[in-house]
Amino acid sequence: MNLSDPITSLKGVGGKRKEILERMNIRTVRDLIYTFPRKYEDRRTVSAIMTAPFDEEVLLEVVVVSKKLQGSPYNKKAPLKVLVEDSTGNLELVFFNARYIAGYFYQGQELTLYGKITLNNGRRQMIHPEFHKTGDKDDIRGLFPVYPLTEGISQNQMRSLELQALPYHGLITEWLPPDIVDDNRLCPPSYAVTNIHFPKEERRVLEGRYRLIFEELLILQTGLFYIKKGIKSGEKGVKLSSKEGVREFLDNMKFELTSGQKRAFEEIEHDLEDQRPMNRLVQGDVGSGKTVVSELAMFKTVKCGYQAVMMAPTELLAKQHIATLKKDFEPLGVRCELLSGSMKAKERRELLEDLKTGAIQILVGTHAIIQPDVEFHDLGLVVTDEQHRFGVNQRNLLVGKGKNPNVLVMTATPIPRTLAVILFGDLDISIIDTLPKGRKPIRTFLRYEESRGKIYDFVHDKVKAGNQAYVVAPLIEESDAIKVRSADEIHKELSSRYSDLRVGLVHGAMKQAEKDAIMLDFKDGKIDILVSTVVIEVGIDVPNATVMVIENCERFGLAQLHQLRGRVGRGKDQSYCILISGSKAEIAEQRNNIMVSTSDGFVIAEEDLKLRGPGEIFGTRQHGIPELGVADLVKNVDVLNKVRGIAEDIIDKDPKLGEPENLELKERIKHMFGENISLQL
Ligand code: ADP
Ligand code: MG
Repeated sequence: MNLSDPITSLKGVGGKRKEILERMNIRTVRDLIYTFPRKYEDRRTVSAIMTAPFDEEVLLEVVVVSKKLQGSPYNKKAPLKVLVEDSTGNLELVFFNARYIAGYFYQGQELTLYGKITLNNGRRQMIHPEFHKTGDKDDIRGLFPVYPLTEGISQNQMRSLELQALPYHGLITEWLPPDIVDDNRLCPPSYAVTNIHFPKEERRVLEGRYRLIFEELLILQTGLFYIKKGIKSGEKGVKLSSKEGVREFLDNMKFELTSGQKRAFEEIEHDLEDQRPMNRLVQGDVGSGKTVVSELAMFKTVKCGYQAVMMAPTELLAKQHIATLKKDFEPLGVRCELLSGSMKAKERRELLEDLKTGAIQILVGTHAIIQPDVEFHDLGLVVTDEQHRFGVNQRNLLVGKGKNPNVLVMTATPIPRTLAVILFGDLDISIIDTLPKGRKPIRTFLRYEESRGKIYDFVHDKVKAGNQAYVVAPLIEESDAIKVRSADEIHKELSSRYSDLRVGLVHGAMKQAEKDAIMLDFKDGKIDILVSTVVIEVGIDVPNATVMVIENCERFGLAQLHQLRGRVGRGKDQSYCILISGSKAEIAEQRNNIMVSTSDGFVIAEEDLKLRGPGEIFGTRQHGIPELGVADLVKNVDVLNKVRGIAEDIIDKDPKLGEPENLELKERIKHMFGENISLQL
């Protein structure tokens, strides 16, 4: 018996079940044990029908009085109703589309129910409650763990698997050094795991959770420091001379740098002139002007005789960047080229040849530039734009094309600093907190369905005045399941309403080339109104577009709305953002009002985090940060702060994590980071 035993060594786990579990990343018994409940349901006390609160989950013990199928027996959709009672009164159970379970119930049967009581025409009902034969093995009392699931596996099946794994808990031995355990009053890991899965007492669950959160964050933080250290303390990087400045570039610029841009570049320049390779993240709100800051870094690199490469997440953004770079660099005699996916073989070969000899000084492209045949003469700087689209791994592959080149990462996803330190633990951070002078703040309005006609007319007026507009919808096509206006529908509506306007449609299901072509038409002014799904979210720069209409804004995350809004307000004309809300629910109103009242991306990000939690915003791959099992980067920020110092200590004393006492920690880091860390460990 071993924690690394394959999951198939448990009873009932074979072909199909094994696949389902693998989808949840459960391959070994250890993986199963470390899959923790999301929450607990309180099934400690039995309520009485007459006195139980409405609309809250309650546990009842009842007896079946009668059952009836409504409507014709041939009507498959007719609900099944079961009347039950306890000593205080009775209640109706309602099941839709569930005639097949009718045979389960019989008069006099004792049932345990778990669900919400609702009132319907004065009658108490429970719709689709969970039910068990009272006293059956499924009839669980106490705190009831609720596991994350995937299709094909139920709570009960998960629970019974965890029960099978219980004998393994004893194999989880203490692996943290005794002083850390003592100083932080951590309970033993086996105790923690047992109490998490089989909660007897709230206090023990909390003790257990604390231990697991602590160790999870310690593994995460140490792992991030480890990567950072590995990059930093590695061999010598590219050191640029302090004699080569960027004066020439600045003199050629049409605008003055903002104070935020100046500060960011000073920090970058300091890194560039240092022997250690730079690893810096530039965070700045949409429109804060990150591109020019990266251009300064590229210019200095090129002046010192090295090459620079810029990686963009989409071909369209790559094209946008190459246009900017050519405009800014060619007058200064610097050669920039785009490595495009649509190049002919000969063209591509020639470009790669010029890159290898150093004739091309700056290369722009999508992740296609990671391909092995792309070789540089002497790569000194790697810039990645909108980095949340790239994993740490991709960045490292690019870095591998030079001898420890400097790395500059740019992101427009504003992240509160506390969190940024974790998410980008392997990077130093510069923040551009200023917007270029003379920007007119975007005016944001919240409207509802009834104003649709007026909104369309407003868009029409703005287009007639020479501007362009975006209309963004959450879905591509109509759907029965969700009642929202689709991009397709709006496109038809606008096209027929205004035959004098050119209305375009772009959505995520289109081929990349097709999308790019439409976006370019919009950029070139050949389309007046662009209706789209969120494909336009990142980076596109069309200064003439001044209206952003967002349909069913309640369906978008705040950070996403902020990104979308950032597509306008880029030129000299007044810009507008009109949010059409399909919901007047309190939470939706609260979110919408944040958008109306502030345009500060950091404030919005902070609010978004509070409302949704970091998991949803920073999905696993996005930042190359592993998915966490119990810890929550926002809620557990106290633990995080505590752990940071400890992690720093560990890495300072044992940078390679080679000491025997750190071996288990290293194993766990490898396991948590997976392939993202394999390059370094
Ligand atoms: P982002 O940070 O969102 O990537 P960009 O780099 O695309 O922003 O810059 C947005 C726009 O602002 C561009 O058109 C750019 O030329 C312009 N810009 C950048 N810096 C300044 C500045 N200091 N003054 C005026 N305009 C600027
Ligand atoms: Mg940008």
